[in-house]
Order: sequence, then C-alpha cells, then structure tokens
Amino acid sequence: MRDYFRPNIASLAGYAPGEQPRDPRVLKLNTNENPYPPSPKVLEAIRRCATDRLRFYPDPLATEFRRAAAQLFDIDEDGIIATNGSDDALTILARGCLDADDALVAPTPSYPLYEVLAKIQGCRFELRPFLPDGSLPRNLVDEARLTIVPNPNSPTGTFVPPSDLLAQAERSKGLVVSDEAYVDFAPSSSLPLLSRCERLVVTRSFSKSYSLAGIRFGFLAASPEIARTLVKVKDSYNVDQVSIAAATAALGDQDYFLEAIRKVKATRARLERELTDLGFDVTPSHANFVWVRRRQPLLPLQQALKERGILVRYLSYPQSGEGLRISIGQDADIDRLLTEIKSLS
Ligand SMILES: *Cc1c(COP(=O)(O)O)cnc(C)c1O
Repeated sequence: MRDYFRPNIASLAGYAPGEQPRDPRVLKLNTNENPYPPSPKVLEAIRRCATDRLRFYPDPLATEFRRAAAQLFDIDEDGIIATNGSDDALTILARGCLDADDALVAPTPSYPLYEVLAKIQGCRFELRPFLPDGSLPRNLVDEARLTIVPNPNSPTGTFVPPSDLLAQAERSKGLVVSDEAYVDFAPSSSLPLLSRCERLVVTRSFSKSYSLAGIRFGFLAASPEIARTLVKVKDSYNVDQVSIAAATAALGDQDYFLEAIRKVKATRARLERELTDLGFDVTPSHANFVWVRRRQPLLPLQQALKERGILVRYLSYPQSGEGLRISIGQDADIDRLLTEIKSLS
C-alpha cells in the first residue's frame, strides 16, 4: 500500500477481539461478559433518557456519575475521569504518557491490548513475565513512563495484593496502572491506596461485574493533579447521556450487584472443582473466568466446543504456552459446557 499511514500503524496487527456471534443460541463463554442481566434500575434509567433531551450534548465530565462513584468508593471526585469503557481509559493514559522514545511495560501473560496501544504511540513495548505463582516480576518498573498491570490478571485470573502495586508505584519513575476490569470478583481494590502515591492509577470497567458491556462505560481514578492533565487528552464527549445514566444507576443498586457477584463466584468454585476432576490444570481464579491448561493440545477442544455451539477463548503466549479462558456462565450454562467436555474426552 502507498505510504498514507505512519509506519507503526501500517505494520500494526491490530487488537483481535473475541468472537461476537449474532446467533442467540450460541453459548458465549469467550469474552467474560456477565451471565446475569443488568439491574432493573439500569433499564429504567435508560428508558428515562429517551426524551427530547437527547438533542443536547452530554455532560463532558459526567458529574452525576463522578459524584456517585466518589461517594461509593470513598475517593476524590476530582481524580475520577468517566470513560467509554475502560479501554478508553487505557487509551487516554497511552496518549497522555507515551512518546516514540518511551516504553510501555506490562507483565506477561496479560491483556493483548496493551501492546496495540504502545504500537499506536510508536513506542517500545516491554513484557516482563509474572513469577510462576502469579506474583509480580521483581524488575517490573524502571524508567518507563507507563506500566500497566491487570489485577486480577487476564487470562490467568491471578491476583496480587494492592500493597504490592503501591510498592511498585513508589519505586517507579512513571505511572503504574492497576487495570481492575475484574476486581469486583477479587478480594480487594487499589482504590483506597490512591491517596498514598500520585503515580498509582486505577482503571475500572462496567462491562464485566455490572453487566454493561453493551453500553461501554468505565472510569479512571488517580490523584486530582494527574487527572487534571489526563482529562486534556480525552475526547470532549467521550461518554454519552445514556451510559452516564445507566452506570450511575448500576452503582446505585449495590444489593442487586452484590448478589450477581456472589452467584458468579459460587459457580466459579464449582467449575474449578469439576474441571480439576476432569484432569485439567486449573489456576485458582479471582475473576469471572477460569484459565485451564493440560498436556494435550487445547485448540482441538476449543474447536469441538465451537461446533457444538459453545465459545471459549483459546490463547497462546510465546513464553507461557497455551490455555483456554472460560467465562463463568449461569449454572445451566456451565452444566451444558461440562456435559460437552465430558462427551469429548
Ligand atoms: C475486558 C477488559 C478491559 C476492557 O473493558 P471495557 O470496559 O469493556 O473496555 C480492560 N482490561 C482487561 C484486562 C479486560 O479484560
């Protein structure tokens, strides 16, 4: 192709999202969506948005949401930036921090989007392997302007204590981001530590724990000073009226939310037990998926399940090998999955 594009973009492979089939009979256990519907209060809030007011631009700062989140999480409202999914928060960080001569550092195996964000900025991308027990590599942070750690991690579901991330941020020259897309399924968050170190940043998603992958909403939380700079690189109206109302209502219905989380965790424990009994090596998960491995190749199993209408995610990493990442469904979904796996082995 002619050189219309920056060389780093022309050569970029691009992020490959998990498959999103249109056939509703397909059981989707491949992209970690919540198996339970959003709170009825969210649906009401969305209906209330269907008025003449849609002709106005949304509140660029999502004040209503920020106030509710600051109160619920007991953090500084001025440090919160509402984002179009947490991927938007990660994009804002990459755009705000990374020049061509900088580096983005991430542990591996982890979320493949980080590499894409680094390449779009045209900067170096450096991977540091997790230790075998899932703890952070000792040499994680250095001169890099940006280090991102998913916590809990995907695809492994492992979790590091927030105090370890704080310790990394204290040693770092750049920002250290705890990507907490799955933290509601884990023991604790880094949000209470934000006031301890201005280099610590947290990103959150409403796609998984709040059952709102379809509306795209997340947020970034940092010290107010860091947020004041980052807000300059976001799109002016990066979140719309409907998603601000939906996310605010979702936060407001904690009883419903906590019950869905409880059910997912109970099913997760059962799936871990049953897959272990079937001979898989199952990493204990702190997220809404499990990561399973075994000696025999896993791609044929993923494909056979797909032929039977069940999608799970096959992932392979140069340094740590392959596995299947299976999202937690409702109990009946997991029964269907286990029946098929048993009939295939
Ligand atoms: C799903 C996921 C995200 C992105 O979530 P959205 O809010 O849907 O953009 C970010 N990080 C990790 C590790 C994820 O798995």
